[in-house]
Amino acid sequence: MESQKNVIFFGAPGVGKGTQSKKLSEELDIPHIDTGSLIREAITSESPLGIKAKSFVEEGKLVPDELVIDMIREKLIFQKNKGFKGFVLDGFPRTIGQATALDNLLGLLKFKITKVINVQAPEEILIGRLSSRRTCTNKSCGTIYNVITQKPAKEGLCDHCGSPLYQRKDDSVEASKQRLEEYHTKTAPLEKYYRDKKIVADIDGTKSPDEVFQDIIELLNSPAPVK
Ligand code: AMP
Repeated sequence: MESQKNVIFFGAPGVGKGTQSKKLSEELDIPHIDTGSLIREAITSESPLGIKAKSFVEEGKLVPDELVIDMIREKLIFQKNKGFKGFVLDGFPRTIGQATALDNLLGLLKFKITKVINVQAPEEILIGRLSSRRTCTNKSCGTIYNVITQKPAKEGLCDHCGSPLYQRKDDSVEASKQRLEEYHTKTAPLEKYYRDKKIVADIDGTKSPDEVFQDIIELLNSPAPVK
């Protein structure tokens, strides 16, 4: 593998970005920067950002760019100061404005994105996955389950840390539909943005989580050029 891995996970809500990006960050021992979790933490702690973001998140809409960009800037500068060897971005960027802001920031920090992992699955399976998703309440764990395909050993409890699981408000069918709508109108155009830079690698997100992870590792180890 190249020495520094700066990877973006791209794909629709419910495609498995969260599970895979978290696993990859553990495997490579690099930070997992997940804007969705950061925003949910801000909402729980009622920080100024959380107060501004709350209604957008609950309605399944994207939070305004400037709020998310500030958050990412802070995280990346913090990581740079720690002398990091890469990062996994999950759920950011989600608009062209965020992508150009990220390019500017990475330019200043002298980093570049090594790969955009584009996880794909047909729309009909995404809503089902979102509404059956359960998430660990322990934010330092955050393991994701699916009550149909990936149940915890003990109902309602995390296999790793024993904390209770919960269903995110925005995983309701109604909010999930809104999130997919936001994805199509605001996030999907980013695919071309990154394809033009020739750093996109496609991954079949319909396989089992272990198979998808295996494919991602093979892809990152492979010298083959990406599309
Ligand atoms: P996620 O956990 O990635 O599904 O994100 C949950 C919600 O957080 C999204 O539906 C948005 O409301 C908000 N959010 C997360 N990341 C972003 C982003 N990059 N830009 C705007 N809103 C975001």
